[in-house]
Amino acid sequence: MNVTRDLFNEVMVPNYNPAAIIPVKGLGSRLWDQAGTEYIDFAGGIAVNVLGHCHPELVSALTEQGQKLWHLSNVLTNEPALRLAKKLTDATFGEKVYFANSGAEANEAALKLARRFALDHFGEHKDQIISFKQGFHGRTFFTVTVGGQTAYSDGFGPKPGGIEHVDYNDLASFEALISDRTCAVMMEPLQGEGGIISPTIDFVKGVRALCDKHNTLLIFDEVQSGVGRTGELFAYMGLGVIPDILTTAKALGGGFPIGAMLTTTDIAKHLKIGTHGSTYGGNPLGCAIAERVLDIVNTPEVLNGVKHKEQLFRRGLEAINSRYHCFEEIRGKGLLLGAALNENFTGRAKEFLVSAAEEHLMCLIAGANVVRFAPSLIIPDEDIQEGLIRFERAVAKVVGADVSYK
Ligand SMILES: *Cc1c(COP(=O)(O)O)cnc(C)c1O
Repeated sequence: MNVTRDLFNEVMVPNYNPAAIIPVKGLGSRLWDQAGTEYIDFAGGIAVNVLGHCHPELVSALTEQGQKLWHLSNVLTNEPALRLAKKLTDATFGEKVYFANSGAEANEAALKLARRFALDHFGEHKDQIISFKQGFHGRTFFTVTVGGQTAYSDGFGPKPGGIEHVDYNDLASFEALISDRTCAVMMEPLQGEGGIISPTIDFVKGVRALCDKHNTLLIFDEVQSGVGRTGELFAYMGLGVIPDILTTAKALGGGFPIGAMLTTTDIAKHLKIGTHGSTYGGNPLGCAIAERVLDIVNTPEVLNGVKHKEQLFRRGLEAINSRYHCFEEIRGKGLLLGAALNENFTGRAKEFLVSAAEEHLMCLIAGANVVRFAPSLIIPDEDIQEGLIRFERAVAKVVGADVSYK
């Protein structure tokens, strides 16, 4: 069969608009397309391929478990799920784990748990959920409504109710909205899709204090920021604020679909037998892979490496900016970085992405004004250097400057 980009238009629902090239192979931070052209990967499958492509340890976890047991359903438990849950609870504030298959599903569980908790403890009036503009929490109807972009949630009829949004990093507006009616606050401790926006320490601490005051559960959506991405195992660890519920996914499986919700025993007990579930959640194959991901990522070598590689990116991007003057700032944390375009390039992030692909570099955008980088946490320094050389050529093309290269 002749598999081309045209076939996509013929047989796929048109909700995506993928690039023209079709990758067929990946290794580490490199990808190859059908023609054998090699690309450097600064995108990491949108912050998923946390150990690059086809990491040998993950390939063995996959093939070893793949020859033993793939799936059981939750009528039975399994060893990989229990081991992974034990390691996650040992490494975090969490005492109990619920496994899902994606970020949206982990968030759906968190939101349903928060509603149950409030109902059981305080009654029906406590149903308000507060979240933040530009936030992103997934595409199920509940999570997309909690997300802060109505463009994603409009057009599907009546929305789940009781959900309100305020500006991120605006503690005064948040304080004005939260009350004893608020059952949960859902926030990203580093906004990803919304443009790589870090919270101020005062803001997160203030949110935590106001949640405590109003008996409100604080949910951190670490689907993108979790599992080493920021140079801490989870971003909350670098903020000095502990949530009541934490969700994670993307990097957790290193490319295999899995999500998780972590919480305390006290809160977890409100998801009683039969109140929630998933056919595939916690399947042995996914959990065996995630266990290996966690073993590798949760080490000083990898986490310190992220901090070191962040500096390589920052220095390289600042240097490019000193020659082309297109970025307002380089922001984010660890290996979740954004180059925010200045007023001369407003709305043109996609052009930088397309230009980078022409230079055989994969990167991402986060909204129309930010070029986003979320590479493997163990991307070799040489790949960063080479990728930045390609990125500079891409920038030069967009900026239209005439430069020569060494
Ligand atoms: C990607 C993402 C989600 C959604 O995850 P899916 O696996 O696509 O459902 C939720 N929250 C955040 C912060 C994300 O970045």
